[in-house]
Amino acid sequence: MGKPTGFLEYDREVGKNREPKERLKDYKEFHLSLPAEKQSIQGARCMDCGVPFCQSGVLFSGMVSGCPLHNLIPEWNDLVYRGKWDLAYERLNKTNPFPEFTGRVCPAPCEAGCTAGLNGPSVAIKENERAIIDTAFKNGIVKANPPVKRTGKKVAVIGSGPAGLATADTLNKCGHKVTVFERSDRPGGLLMYGIPNMKLDKEVILRRINLMAEEGIRFVTNANIGENYDTNEILDEYDAVVLATGASDPRDLVAKGRDEVKGVHFAVDFLKANTKSLLDSNHDDNNYISAKDKNVIVIGGGDTGTDCVGTSLRHGCKSLVQFEIMGEPLKERGDNNPWPEWPKVLKVDYGQEEFIDIYGKDPREYLTTVTGLHADKDGNLESVDTVKVEWKKDENGRFGPVPVEGSEKTYQAELVLLAMGFTGSQNYIKEAFGVESDARSNIKANEKDFKTNVHKVFSTGDARRGQSLVVTAINEGIRAGIAVNEFLRK
Ligand SMILES: Cc1cc2nc3c(=O)[nH]c(=O)nc-3n(C[C@H](O)[C@H](O)[C@H](O)COP(=O)(O)OP(=O)(O)OC[C@H]3O[C@@H](n4cnc5c(N)ncnc54)[C@H](O)[C@@H]3O)c2cc1C
Ligand code: SF4
Repeated sequence: MGKPTGFLEYDREVGKNREPKERLKDYKEFHLSLPAEKQSIQGARCMDCGVPFCQSGVLFSGMVSGCPLHNLIPEWNDLVYRGKWDLAYERLNKTNPFPEFTGRVCPAPCEAGCTAGLNGPSVAIKENERAIIDTAFKNGIVKANPPVKRTGKKVAVIGSGPAGLATADTLNKCGHKVTVFERSDRPGGLLMYGIPNMKLDKEVILRRINLMAEEGIRFVTNANIGENYDTNEILDEYDAVVLATGASDPRDLVAKGRDEVKGVHFAVDFLKANTKSLLDSNHDDNNYISAKDKNVIVIGGGDTGTDCVGTSLRHGCKSLVQFEIMGEPLKERGDNNPWPEWPKVLKVDYGQEEFIDIYGKDPREYLTTVTGLHADKDGNLESVDTVKVEWKKDENGRFGPVPVEGSEKTYQAELVLLAMGFTGSQNYIKEAFGVESDARSNIKANEKDFKTNVHKVFSTGDARRGQSLVVTAINEGIRAGIAVNEFLRK
């Protein structure tokens, strides 16, 4: 620990967000970094407290607290304070193969577990992480490091999201020859075609993919395994196959008119088309679902909903409302949600911040659900019926939403975006390989050896554990890589 009294002397400081009015004009990253000297001071706030929940990555009350990658946080905080950026990168690189992703998009469960957060602001761990890797790239010390010896074994990784990339990286480092197959035209999974550019610039992903390719990993895009690529050929050619195909079956809306009206889209379809058109032609091809001049309804109050809010505002929507079926979270931790649990508190994310800047109020309506959708004579969405709900226990003691009589309301809307989460892994992938599902429609694979019921076929990431976070997908990917290496070595 560089400065024992650092947490008493220095306040937490994080980089600024670009002003909403300015950032709404483009899709560039909105979050700016602190200058290096200021970031170093943030390293001094770490007490190396001896109870580093920050790096323990465990579940408290079913929610993760601490870093799932077990990043050596107190060590690199100290090196950041001492200005030893290269050494800090070496330590960070030991546990996290892609800190430039997590340093931008991770919700930072490490900070929830930080001891300084017990009675004050936690250490700015995520920003220290981003500063370490961005500085390392700037200083040219992140270089391709191919394995010196190859084992002669070949592995196919299906899916190039963070889990697939982490598996590929781990196995390549072990000397196996890895090919990553991706059905989209660009690799990266939801990093590329889910999380919008303003949160994670796509050049940051391509920079990493290029490094991995230099290290010997082969990327094959537009390869939809089980659809336009034969599964048997893959099974014949490779010594192991890892399904890192994500949990891309979206949860649908159950409401009158859902199947008849035009203008209702899944959030990921909306976000993917937007990013693809942006990257292909700076939107000149018009090949995306536009919210321009439309009254937009976003259903779902989570991060994906926020991305839809931010994107719709950039398109120039006419109005926007975001519905959330749960109640409004508390502003401060409740008594039943103590440190170091993940704080279940109200978050005003970038999309809401931008909406508030324009309209002076939060777009979220809580305890609200959609009951019906209406179309005009051409079948285009025209309006949406809603009702308020109360959460009550039924006769079996289970909580559920109950409509509040007299609270019905109709909203004019030409675009509805469904951001209600995912129900599991897509069936055609499971059928193509003959792998079993678990009770939640994920691919059934053991958490220790990541094996499915099919010989030499493994699964990892959201495909195996269900919808999660980038940091947990990377963790899963590394562990699956280790398990596959053990299998190949036997
Ligand atoms: C809109 C959105 C925003 C999010 N924002 C955040 C955030 O800010 N922070 C955070 O931590 N998490 C966020 N998440 C969650 C996070 O992105 C995921 O948990 C993570 O990407 C899962 O990684 P994965 O590699 O398991 O799967 P994915 O990222 O889903 O990647 C799976 C890949 O497999 C490919 N694939 C599927 N089937 C086939 C096939 N048959 N053949 C070839 N390829 C195939 C898919 O095209 C995809 O590229 C967000 C999720 C969404 C939807
Ligand atoms: S990966 Fe996430 S949890 Fe881990 S140190 Fe970085 S921001 Fe924190």
